Amino acid sequence: MAARCAALLCTALLLAGCAAAPARDAALASPPRDGPARLPADADAPVLLVSIDGFRADYLDRGLTPTLQALADAGVRAEYMRPSYPSITFPNHYTLVTGLRPDRHGVVANFMTDPTMPGVRFSMFDRATVGDARWWNDGRPLWTSVREHGGRAATMFWVGSEAPVHGAMPEYWRPFDIAVDSRQRVEQVLGWLALAPAERPHLITLYFDIVDTMGHLHGPDSPELDAALAEVDAALATLVAGIDAQGLGERVNLVVVSDHGMAATGPDRELYLDDLVDVSRLDFLWTGAYASFDALPGGEDAARQLLGGHPHMTCTTRDRIPERYRFGTHRRVPAYFCEAEPGWQVTTRDAMQRKGHRLRGEHGYDNRHPDMRAPFIAHGPAFRRGAVIPAIDNVDVYPLLAHLLAIPPADNDGDLAHTRDALVPGR
Ligand SMILES: [Zn+2]
Repeated sequence: MAARCAALLCTALLLAGCAAAPARDAALASPPRDGPARLPADADAPVLLVSIDGFRADYLDRGLTPTLQALADAGVRAEYMRPSYPSITFPNHYTLVTGLRPDRHGVVANFMTDPTMPGVRFSMFDRATVGDARWWNDGRPLWTSVREHGGRAATMFWVGSEAPVHGAMPEYWRPFDIAVDSRQRVEQVLGWLALAPAERPHLITLYFDIVDTMGHLHGPDSPELDAALAEVDAALATLVAGIDAQGLGERVNLVVVSDHGMAATGPDRELYLDDLVDVSRLDFLWTGAYASFDALPGGEDAARQLLGGHPHMTCTTRDRIPERYRFGTHRRVPAYFCEAEPGWQVTTRDAMQRKGHRLRGEHGYDNRHPDMRAPFIAHGPAFRRGAVIPAIDNVDVYPLLAHLLAIPPADNDGDLAHTRDALVPGR
């Protein structure tokens, strides 16, 4: 499989080993489940889904991303795209490829526990749990459906792509490695597109993390953030030029999104729960835009004392999380939630010490807050040119992608009608 995986560039460019899926027939646990649709053997019109982590919708207006602007001008953009709650990375990336809100796909946070898996703690940094399909099987990612319908999929990093969800991996995939830079990621994607049509993936994902990282470390209004925008845009320019050079410019349908935006924060907007109660018997799963935790034996009183309104923060039990978030029913959602006002952080001294640095940007806030908005840009033969559609929810991306691939969408929370005006009539 190594030769198939590499295309042109894998071993030469990438620091981590190239990973390939098990042989296809062995990988699939079940036959196609949604009817007779089969993808053609030749991938003549690949779909390419790109995520720029932490790219706030209004970054587009800074004049630093001419490639994205050109794609929007020659294609379609939505006024903006709302993330799902909580507006953090793992839940939203999995929403984008399943069309399910986090409460339904079960990836409710970057760190999780599950009462049906006692003693196991999911961490976004732990390859063993990231690669454990049990955490992902409540959703059916698009690449799984592509393979079930006879197609090929490739992921140049994507949340959920390192586990055999419902028995299937993407045909070509890479374990996440932050040391692989933006340009190397693009070159891997171009390598996959350069494969013969009978080998080329029908679906490819591409993920950039640098904008989110700089947003956290230096803030959304920093020169470092602007430099990250320019870096990713330059990588996208290489991507577009490479697609054109391969003669695929009129064939690839490209969708560029983000998982969430970024709000400015700082050391003067940190709320320490230790100042309010004894936190030693509280088990924190997350701190930041919100703190989520369970009470350990002996911690129930402290947890209850936090409930209610505080300056810049509100604490509730999970069944009282605001209804508009559509969040709180999945068994993995912790019992208690303290939500900070946008721009504030709720944390503990212990969590802050372990984090090791002060944040200048944060996300995870109300998914309707303007700072949490993400972009939606689409370009290619299926899309109108120069059109702007009203704001969409990120659950709407999945049914659009399934439509582009001409496979039946799995059950989802989105609606193709919301992106219908992005499409060329008849597509
Ligand atoms: Zn993110």
